[in-house]
Amino acid sequence: MLSIGIVGLPNVGKSTLFNAITKSQVTAANYPFATIDPNVGVVHVKDERLEKLAAIYKSGKIIPTTIEFIDIAGLVKGASSGEGLGNQFLSHIRQVDAIAHVIRCFEDSEITHVEGKVDPLRDLEIIEIELRLSDLESVDKRLARLEKQVKVKIKEAIIEQSALLKVKHMIENELPTSVLEFTDEEEKIVKGFNLLSLKPALYIANMAETDLVDPESNPYFQALKAKAVKENIEIIPISAQVEYEISSLDDPEEQAIFMESYGLTRSGLDTVIVSGYKLLGLNTYFTCGPMEARAWTFKTGTKAPEAAGIIHTDFERGFIKAEVLAYNDLIEFGTPLLAKEKGKVRIEGKEYVVQDGDIILFRFNV
Ligand code: GDP
Repeated sequence: MLSIGIVGLPNVGKSTLFNAITKSQVTAANYPFATIDPNVGVVHVKDERLEKLAAIYKSGKIIPTTIEFIDIAGLVKGASSGEGLGNQFLSHIRQVDAIAHVIRCFEDSEITHVEGKVDPLRDLEIIEIELRLSDLESVDKRLARLEKQVKVKIKEAIIEQSALLKVKHMIENELPTSVLEFTDEEEKIVKGFNLLSLKPALYIANMAETDLVDPESNPYFQALKAKAVKENIEIIPISAQVEYEISSLDDPEEQAIFMESYGLTRSGLDTVIVSGYKLLGLNTYFTCGPMEARAWTFKTGTKAPEAAGIIHTDFERGFIKAEVLAYNDLIEFGTPLLAKEKGKVRIEGKEYVVQDGDIILFRFNV
């Protein structure tokens, strides 16, 4: 399962948000693969399409797809030089697929700020510098090792050196990754390095509950948003405390009433989950029947047999064909039967690239 690491300075609201995540967590009984590590939370990705599908197929159960959050507490200034438990935390970040930065945008004289005062841009910069320094260290180490091989003109080493020098230039000059242009070969090498500053990221602006109705009225949020827009990074205003309170209510109706009192139509956590899912480049296909309507996660570009393998390896091994109906076609015609009559149920083979929203019935040999 792909995972998102929650990162931020101390006292910004990470644990509060993470507690909301673990409270909303799927139960291990339904998801035997879900880890019981206290720093890991597995949550459902809400998808309105699933409810509609369950109604159409008269499914007994709805099974949403899931995503994993990892609490990476303890990142402080100087982490890359081993300050605190710095290197350990940085190595945890290396293992996640994307980063959610929690940034403090709330004032509260009772809650100390490690850097003395609230300043989201500075806070973010502290974290970003640590990530960059850590990357720089690994890049420099590798470059030093490559030197000998480059001297004797080993082709692979020359390509790797060129890729790493581009990354080094970017890190040292604090340039956005979008300015980098790699050849396919270089890109593969850079991906293998799993650099922290190149991971997809989103910003979670943690603000006072009273600011939720109009986040733009909070100058800290405005400053952060300007940076986010410039860098094409999604920014989500939430109040970690309100999220925690929502997650403490069991009854969805009570949750809705509570959210309404803050002017919210959807929990901030749900927005974070859905944005995280998108950030990871994930798509969903569905399997539907009287038993269950279920969502499955796949990466863009996945072909039909591999998608079948997500359900079970036997499905991939014995793959014959896939009967595919696009969600929008189903909604347009109302029932699978009518959609079929209109020729909307396609028979696809091994080369079919699965699309987001496909409703699929796999045919396979056992
Ligand atoms: P962490 O160190 O980043 O994990 O931060 P915590 O989640 O432990 O939060 C630090 C303190 O800030 C706790 O006392 C929280 O109750 C409080 N806190 C978190 N979010 C908010 C918020 O939105 N508003 C206010 N006033 N306090 C908050």
